[in-house]
Amino acid sequence: MTQPTPAALEGLTFLQRGWLSSNNVLLHGAPGEGATLVDSGHCANADQTLALVRHALAGEALARVVNTHLHSDHCGGNAALQREFGMAVAIPPGLWDAVQRWDEDELSYRPTRQRCERFSADAVLAPGSTLRCGARAWEVLAAPGHDPHSVMLFDAAQGVLISADALWENGFGVVFPELDGVGAYDDVAAVLALIERLPVQWVLPGHGAPFEDVAGALARARSRLAGFRADPARHDRHAAKVLLKFHLLEERAQPLPALRAWLAAAPLMQGMWLRLGRPGASVEGWCDLLVAELCAAGVLALRDGVVCDV
Ligand SMILES: [Zn+2]
Repeated sequence: MTQPTPAALEGLTFLQRGWLSSNNVLLHGAPGEGATLVDSGHCANADQTLALVRHALAGEALARVVNTHLHSDHCGGNAALQREFGMAVAIPPGLWDAVQRWDEDELSYRPTRQRCERFSADAVLAPGSTLRCGARAWEVLAAPGHDPHSVMLFDAAQGVLISADALWENGFGVVFPELDGVGAYDDVAAVLALIERLPVQWVLPGHGAPFEDVAGALARARSRLAGFRADPARHDRHAAKVLLKFHLLEERAQPLPALRAWLAAAPLMQGMWLRLGRPGASVEGWCDLLVAELCAAGVLALRDGVVCDV
C-alpha cells in the first residue's frame, strides 16, 4: 500500500492483484518464525506471485501458505511457491481427500474448465481453530456460500477480517453451489450475518482493495443477494458472464470457434444454458450472445474473429 499503514494492518502485507489472481496477504511472523501467505493467485500469474512474495518477505522465511478455498485463482500459485520455498500448505478440510487424489471434478477445475497446477497439502485449516502468526491470532471461520468449503480469517484483537470471496466491497463471489442446483443463498446470508456480529474494522477481501465501511458493504451484498433470490436466472446470467470473462483472463485471447468449443465442453456452463431456457438455440449460439454482451459492456473485444480480454 502506498498510504501509511494503519496500526491495525501493521505486520501484514496486502498484495492486491488483478481479477485473474486473488489478492494475497502476507502475515509476517515473529523473529525466526517465518511468514504465512494467505492465498496464492492463479497459476498463469505464478511468476508474478513469486516476485511479489519474495519482495514482500525481504529475506524473511516463508513458513506456510494457507488457502481460504481452492478455486483456481486462490491456490494456483501453491505449486510454484512449493518449488521455490518448500513451505507447508494448509487447506480447509472439505477438499482434503480431493487434493490427495487430485480429483479435478471435485476440485471444480474440470466443470469450470479452469487451470490449476497440482500441489500437495500438508495440513488442514480447520474452522474453529486458531492460526497464530507473529503477535496475531486468527480465528478460522467457516464461510460457506460462494464455496461450501471456504474459510475466512479473523483477528479479533485488531478487527481485521480476511474475507476471501464471502464479502467484497461491492458484492461477493458467484454462489457456485447454486450453479449445481444446490441451494446456498441461505449460507451466503448466514455468513453476512456472522460478519455483521464481529467487531470488524478492516476487511481484506479476496478481490479488490481493503475497506473499512463494513456496514455499507454488507448492505450492498444483501441487496445483491435479494436480487438473486427474487430472480434466480439473474444469478445464472451473472455467473455465465463472470466465468466467460475469467476464461478470457486465463487465455488473454481466443478465436471465437475455440471459445465456443470451450463453453460447450464446460459442464457448469451447459447446466446454466439449460436452466436459462437454451438461449441462442445452441451453446455455441449462446456463447456468441454472451460475447456480444461482454463486448458491449467493454470488458471483452472481438477483433478479426478473435475474442480478446481488455
Ligand atoms: Zn472463489
